[in-house]
Amino acid sequence: MPLSLLSIASEVFPLVKTGGLADVAGALPAALAVEGVQVLTFIPGYPAVLSAVGEAAIVAEYPALMGGAAVVRRAHAYGLDLLVLDAPHLFARDGNPYLGPDGKDWPDNALRFGAFSRVAADLAGGRRGNLAVDVVQAHDWQAALTGAYLHYDPPEHRPAVVTTIHNLAFQGIFPAYLLGPLGLPADAFSVDALEYYGSISFLKAGVVFADRITTVSPSYAAEIMTPEGGMGFEGLLAGRSSDVSGILNGIDPDIWDPARDPHLAVPYSAADLAMRAGNKRALQSDLGLDPVPNAFLIGSVGRLTEQKGMDMLAAVLPNLIARGAQLALLGSGDPLLEKAFGALADHYPGRVGARIGYDESLAHRIEAGCDAFVMPSRFEPCGLTQMYALRYGAVPIVSRVGGLADTVIDANPYALEQGVATGFQFPAGSHGALAGALERAMSLHAEEPENWAQLQRNGMATDSSWSVAAKQYANLFRALVAKRA
Ligand code: ADP
Repeated sequence: MPLSLLSIASEVFPLVKTGGLADVAGALPAALAVEGVQVLTFIPGYPAVLSAVGEAAIVAEYPALMGGAAVVRRAHAYGLDLLVLDAPHLFARDGNPYLGPDGKDWPDNALRFGAFSRVAADLAGGRRGNLAVDVVQAHDWQAALTGAYLHYDPPEHRPAVVTTIHNLAFQGIFPAYLLGPLGLPADAFSVDALEYYGSISFLKAGVVFADRITTVSPSYAAEIMTPEGGMGFEGLLAGRSSDVSGILNGIDPDIWDPARDPHLAVPYSAADLAMRAGNKRALQSDLGLDPVPNAFLIGSVGRLTEQKGMDMLAAVLPNLIARGAQLALLGSGDPLLEKAFGALADHYPGRVGARIGYDESLAHRIEAGCDAFVMPSRFEPCGLTQMYALRYGAVPIVSRVGGLADTVIDANPYALEQGVATGFQFPAGSHGALAGALERAMSLHAEEPENWAQLQRNGMATDSSWSVAAKQYANLFRALVAKRA
C-alpha cells in the first residue's frame, strides 16, 4: 500500500536554497517514491518559487491568513509534486527566505512560518484542499508548529507527525505574546508545550507534539541528548530518547557526479583520477592562485560561521601557507569572517583565493579541483559538502562530530593498512588538532601518493545515495501508521 507524506520545508532545491535542508527536501521525494511513499512537498511562495510554478491551480483559499489573503497552489516542477503557499503579505519579498536586506531576521518571521505551519496542518488533516495524508514530516523550526496546530485544533483525520531537526541551533524562539496572533491558545504557554525560558519556541513544539523526532545523522542524534550538544533541548530530547533517531542524509548522485558535471572543466571518474589535474588548474586560474601543479590545494565551501569552525581555519592558515599550501574558499556569513578571509586573500596573493558570496557552480568546481576539503565544524548535524568531497575525490579533513564522524573514515595506520580510510578526522574545537590534521594530510599527499590515491578511490566508492536513508524513513513512517491502525 502506498503511503502519503506531506513534507513541509522552508527551502527546497532547486527552487530556493540557503543550505543543506534544501538539498534534502529536494532529493528525498524521488528516493521515497521508490519505497512506495508518495510525497507532496509544501513550500512558501517566495518570488523564485512562484516564478518557477507560474499560475498553478488553486487548491485552497484563505481570505485572511495572519494579516492577508492567501491561496495554496499545486504544481509539478523538477519532479516534485508541490503545494505552494502564495501569501504575498508574507513571502513576496526579494532576497533570503529568512533575512531582510539588512542581514537580520525578517521581523515577522514568527507569523510567516506560523502561517506556513497552520496551512500545513489544514492540508495534512484534510481540512483544506482534499489532500489528507498519512504522515507529515516537518523540517526544522519553520515547519515545527504543524504538530501544535494539529494538537490544539485537531482535524477529524490526524496524520502522524515526524519532526526532522536539521540544525538544533535554530530553535524559532519568539516572544510569548505572539501565541494569540498565531491562533494558539494561552495554555500553550506551558513547560509541557511551547514555553521556553519565558519565551516560546517553535522547535520545542515540534519536539513535544511529534510522534517521532529524527535528525540527520546517528552521531548528532546522540549528541543532542547531551548537555554539550543539546543547546538547551537535551533534557526534552533525552526524555523522549526512544522516539529520537538519526538517519544519515544522502546526496543527489545526478547533481553531484564528477563524470557528468556540466560545471567542470574536465569531467572524470575514479578510473581516471589524473584528470582532476585539469580541474585543479582551472580552479587555480579562476581564483587567482599560482599555477603550481603539486601545491597542496585545500578547498572550503559553506557558511562562514563559528559553527563551521571557520575562525579556526583562518587562524591556522598562515602556517600552512608558509609550507606551500593554497586555499580555495567560497562562502558567506558572519561579516567579521568574510573580512578575515578577504584580508588573508589580500595578504597572500596567489596562495589564498576567497570568493565571498553564493555560487552553485564554483561550489562544484572547488570539490573537483581541490586536493583536500576541510570542515572544522564545532558541531555538524550531517554536513553534505564532505560527502560531495568524497564523491569528487577530494579528501575530506573533518572534525569528529555529528555527521562528519559518521561519514569519514580516518586515515589512521590501521585503516590505511586495511585499505578502508577515506579522509582525516580530528577532535572538534581545537586549533592544534585542526593544524595537526592538515599537516598529517599534507605530508601523506606529498610523501605517499599511492596511499593518497587510495583515500580518493575509497571516498569515490562510498555509497552516499539517498536509497539507504529513504528505506529508513519509509520504515519509520510505516511503523507509525501501523501503530495508529
Ligand atoms: P548547512 O546546511 O549547515 O549550511 P551542509 O553542508 O549540510 O551545511 O549544506 C550546505 C549546502 O549549501 C551544500 O550543498 C553546499 O554546497 C551549499 N553551499 C553552502 N554555501 C555555499 C556557497 N557560498 N555557494 C554555493 N553553495 C553553497
